Parts: sequence; C-alpha cells; structure tokens
Amino acid sequence: MKASAFSYTRASSVDDALEILALHGDQAKVLSGGQSLMPALNLRLSAPALLVDIGAIAELRGISVSDGVLRIGALTRHVDTLKSSDIAKHAPLLTEAIAHVAHPAIRNKGTIGGSLAHADPASELPACSIALGATIVVRGKGNVRRIPATDFFTGIYETLLSPEELLVAVEVPVAKPNSVHFFREYARRKGDYAIVGLAASGVLERDVFTDLKLGFFAVGDKPLLAHASQRLMGKSMTASMLADAQAALDDELDPQEDQEASASMRRYLARQLMEQCVVTLLGRPDLETRKLA
Ligand SMILES: Cc1cc2nc3c(=O)[nH]c(=O)nc-3n(C[C@H](O)[C@H](O)[C@H](O)COP(=O)(O)OP(=O)(O)OC[C@H]3O[C@@H](n4cnc5c(N)ncnc54)[C@H](O)[C@@H]3O)c2cc1C
Repeated sequence: MKASAFSYTRASSVDDALEILALHGDQAKVLSGGQSLMPALNLRLSAPALLVDIGAIAELRGISVSDGVLRIGALTRHVDTLKSSDIAKHAPLLTEAIAHVAHPAIRNKGTIGGSLAHADPASELPACSIALGATIVVRGKGNVRRIPATDFFTGIYETLLSPEELLVAVEVPVAKPNSVHFFREYARRKGDYAIVGLAASGVLERDVFTDLKLGFFAVGDKPLLAHASQRLMGKSMTASMLADAQAALDDELDPQEDQEASASMRRYLARQLMEQCVVTLLGRPDLETRKLA
C-alpha cells in the first residue's frame, strides 16, 4: 500500500514548528526519524494532511549533564544513545536497553523523542523512562510542560502530548552511588518487539533494596511501574518476600492476548522477569524457583 497524499514542510526551529502545529492542529503530524510514522502512513493507519519534518532542528539534538540531571534532546538517534559515554555513565539502563530496539538500520534513524511520543506499549524506551524516574519535556506555543514519565503514557499509542506540542527532551536523574539496573526482554527474534520485558533501576545498600523501580513493558496498554516493588524493599530478601511480590505483581497486570502470546503466558513471563531481576541484582541464585527451558 501507499500512503494517502500529504503535504510536507521542514521546520527551521522549535518556534517555527510550533507555529505550524498551532495552525494545523490534528491535521498535522510531526516527523522525526520516520521509523514508526512512515510504516503507519503506508499502511494507512494514519493519514495526516501535513507532515512537519523537525529533523533539521539543531536545538533538539544533544546530550548534556548538569546539576545531577542528564538531558537527552528529542532528536537523539538510538545509535547516538548507544554510543554516548554520558548515557553509559549516568543512565546505563538506557545503553543496555537500546541495543534491543529494532535493528542497526532503524537505530540509525529512529529517535528517543519519536519512541516516547509514539508510546508503543511493547517499546523499551517508555519502560526505561518510568524506571529511571524521567521527566518528559514538552513545548507548546508560549509554554513548557515538564511531565513525569509515569504520567505521560496514557494508553496504546497515547500520551499527554497535544497535537500542537513538541516533545523536546527527556531528563533523567543521574545514577546515584550504589545504583543498580537490570534489563531483559523475551522476543521471538533479536530486534523484534518484546513479548514481555522489564527495565529496572534501584539502589542497593548492604544487600537491601532502598529503592527499586520496575518498568514492565508489553504487559498492558502502557508501560507499567509495578507497585509490587515496594514488597522487595527495606529488608533482607527472602523467598517468601519474593513470592509475595510476584503475587502482587500478578494483580497489577492486564496483559493482552495476541499471536505472540496468551495473557497467561505474559503473566508467567512477567513474574519470571521479576525473579530474574532480584536474583541477578542481589547475586542470590538460592531465590530462584524454576528455570525456563
Ligand atoms: C522493523 C521495525 C522494528 C522496530 N522494532 C522496534 C523495537 O523493537 N522497539 C522499539 O521501541 N521500537 C521499534 N521500532 C520503532 C523505532 O524504534 C522508531 O524509531 C521509534 O518508535 C520512533 O522514532 P522515530 O524518530 O522514527 O519517530 P517517527 O516515526 O518519526 O514518529 C513516531 C510518532 O511520534 C511522533 N513524534 C515523533 N517525534 C516527535 C516529537 N519530538 N514531538 C512530538 N511528536 C513526535 C510522530 O508524529 C509519530 O506519531 C521498530 C521499527 C521498525 C520499522
């Protein structure tokens, strides 16, 4: 199939893009790397009258660290995230996760802003953003909104972004001393979207989690920051604490059934990922219940 006819314009600055978006409202779509938008146009899942290409806006690029915050510009491509020493040092979860996003050709074009704005519930980066306590920075004409990632994602391909706004950056608190992270996903083949995945970050003090954020993906209509992690914190880990947290996690999940997996398989994999995360971060194989074949 081919895309419906559309007009195209290239914005020269954020202000220019916001003027155009304010004029055209939901008739316009922002184009970043095009790795999700172009397939959607070609499948006619989306048929905007106008594409606003923001790819040449220099102020949307760049990675910086200041006052304990890592700021990643919206147009930072996945390949740039993978290679950044600042991200590897201050948010190593992102470095590890990005290697699981699609394939090199897609990572050379796709951007972090595009991935977060697209809000695919099976995507790695939205789950990382909630696990890292990130803030999504959004600009409209004459206003800036700083939205906690935990509030930003509202449903399948849905966020708090309005059609007149641009996602301009994501801000992540730099990793604390004793920070730990875990990333794992089940996918049919390397580079496929996950069947179920977990992006986690935490702080370990003398083998006790004093902080633990578990960002599950592909388990519902948006990334899930599991409240069940509270049951894994503040005390030396036992098998019954872990089992209790797994049962609490099960109550929070609302997985879909599709051609990849049944809902019960997704629940099982999510519980397994929680266990693998705890076992790996604590170095406690004695907590392991059952290995997957
Ligand atoms: C074969 C294939 C496999 C893939 N596998 C994976 C995978 O495993 N995991 C994964 O996470 N992704 C995967 N992707 C998607 C890929 O990572 C995209 O790069 C990413 O989802 C979107 O980034 P983009 O810059 O290409 O955005 P675009 O395609 O340009 O835009 C995506 C959406 O976000 C909006 N948008 C983009 N930028 C902004 C902005 N700054 N402000 C406001 N709105 C904006 C657009 O209007 C559009 O609705 C895959 C894609 C393909 C084609």
